[in-house]
Amino acid sequence: MNLITHALIGWCAGMRPGRPRIEVAAVAVVSVIPDIDAFGALIDLARGGEAEWFTAYHHKFGHCLPFCLLLVVLAWLWRKNARLCLWLAGIFHLHLLCDLIGARGPDGYQWPVYYLFPFSGHGLTWPHQWEINAWPNILLTVLLIMVFLRQAAIYGYSPLSLLSESADRRFVETLQKRFGITPAPGIDHV
Ligand SMILES: [Zn+2]
Repeated sequence: MNLITHALIGWCAGMRPGRPRIEVAAVAVVSVIPDIDAFGALIDLARGGEAEWFTAYHHKFGHCLPFCLLLVVLAWLWRKNARLCLWLAGIFHLHLLCDLIGARGPDGYQWPVYYLFPFSGHGLTWPHQWEINAWPNILLTVLLIMVFLRQAAIYGYSPLSLLSESADRRFVETLQKRFGITPAPGIDHV
């Protein structure tokens, strides 16, 4: 799936009463970070040639179990919160699952997920995988945007708050008026 959908999945799933905003952001980041191994596309674009770098690394070091374990260790050192670590491992694997079921390229190529990279060259695939821009992905993204907007109104903040508190307040207040939601006091734990 594309980055926007992965980010929405992470943010919406990560929003939980009582969870600090920074941890919600961490769940969202881990939901997109496997695609760090698509960096080769930028190099290929700069070189103006074939998609060599992208092909060489995509769905490898970012989409494998060792990278997930590294993230979990870093998260543990950061927050010492086993529940959060489990959440991050889960959202990481949800990213892999989403890629397995709905990330076929426009040319029909199914990018295998090299789960045990660099220890194994075996790539995981699912024969019924649909294209990255197929309707299930579009429908899921639209539904997630609706959930995202509603959660922002209920919890009283959105990712915009990480950049500008005042802009986020205006955004959230607009949503709250739109949805007719009065935020419960104390639901936002920063
Ligand atoms: Zn991916």
